[in-house]
Amino acid sequence: MKLYSTANHNLSVDFKTAVFNSLPADKGLYMPTILPQFDALMMQNWATKTLPQIAFDVAYTLLNEVISAQDLKAIIDDAINFEAPLHALSGDTFMLELFHGPSLAFKDFGGRFMSRIMAHFLKNEHKEIKILVATSGDTGGAVALGFLNVPGISVSILYPKGKVSAIQELQLTTNGNNIEAIEIDGTFDDCQRLVKQAFLDEELNTHLSLTSANSINISRLIPQMFYYANTWARLKADFEELVFVTPSGNFGNIAAGMIAHKMGLPVKQFIAATNSNDIVPQYFKTGTYAPRPSIATLANAMDVGDPSNFVRILDLYNNDIHALHTQLISLSYNDAQIKATIATVYQQHNYILCPHTATGYLAVEEVRKNETNKTAYIILATAHPCKFPDVFEELHINIEEPAQVETMKQKQQHKVIMANNFDDFKKHLLGLN
Ligand SMILES: *Cc1c(COP(=O)(O)O)cnc(C)c1O
Repeated sequence: MKLYSTANHNLSVDFKTAVFNSLPADKGLYMPTILPQFDALMMQNWATKTLPQIAFDVAYTLLNEVISAQDLKAIIDDAINFEAPLHALSGDTFMLELFHGPSLAFKDFGGRFMSRIMAHFLKNEHKEIKILVATSGDTGGAVALGFLNVPGISVSILYPKGKVSAIQELQLTTNGNNIEAIEIDGTFDDCQRLVKQAFLDEELNTHLSLTSANSINISRLIPQMFYYANTWARLKADFEELVFVTPSGNFGNIAAGMIAHKMGLPVKQFIAATNSNDIVPQYFKTGTYAPRPSIATLANAMDVGDPSNFVRILDLYNNDIHALHTQLISLSYNDAQIKATIATVYQQHNYILCPHTATGYLAVEEVRKNETNKTAYIILATAHPCKFPDVFEELHINIEEPAQVETMKQKQQHKVIMANNFDDFKKHLLGLN
């Protein structure tokens, strides 16, 4: 597999380069030059295969020239060691639960696969790399738990003081070993600025092999295709058409589904549900892509004012908004709607939606047509509600915490406390303070 940049289709880099660079220098995003088609017989056989087996078929279709079948199988069996079950809310509406991994959010697919891909490439290099990530909450946990004890890699995660939930903080601070949590007295934007400055700092880069693990990395995108394929395999006997509804912020999760579709996965329509950060819904309304500063919402992992993966989706459709619009619609919902929906779904179905997932449910309510039962609506449940406790206290909904939360609470917390100051951060990375 070769990759080009969305900003320069003449560029051609190999997969390893794209994984360790994350971003091309021209500020586009890496995309596969050719999207191979899934083999028809292989897809037929998915009906009887497990999630890791389907994941292997999907990944190998893209990566067969890059990684041996044996190595890729080992990477996937190790990375995808939890389920992505479908929970039926009604005859044709399903929650695709992506929160059964260690950090309780879909980002575990990306975090765990990326870490093992990097370790695979580093195996024979005897080189130690340092991953720097800024997180507003969910990315950090998936990266921390994804890279925990992965050889050859150490990770520093910067997070804003007082701005992540208690469980999110535990996921960052209870790991130890090769994972370091740095609490910055500042905002998420401050954390991101410190990381960006570190990547540009010559002295740091002569002493350390710095790499990012952000959500636009191609090795985080590929594993997000796995559960779309697995869901189709589970439902294809009972439904003629599938509609996937993906709660979206940076649009990486939905981009992965749309790439799978371009590779031959039958999907009638994708719906990107957003919170009040409605850049993409507005784009479809007005034809103008107008990024703006993000606003804080209950679905805070989707508080994105310039969804970076959207250029990948446009690239899939040659930047033709009309062609794209036949396959993708995007709808936005505010906090009041999110809160009301969580309460209603709890009453009607005894099922607890996280605030992100609630936007997906709202979208299905808006678009569902009643004439046929042959269309399945699949809402991606992106996180376990226990990661976002505030809203549930207010609604008097009691959330049972999964066992891994109890285990984390027993562990010692470690964090480095730091001012929002680049010199302090740099000295720390160099081991000088
Ligand atoms: C990151 C995240 C999203 C948004 O995913 P994108 O790929 O950025 O669109 C939605 N829900 C949860 C819980 C998340 O952590």
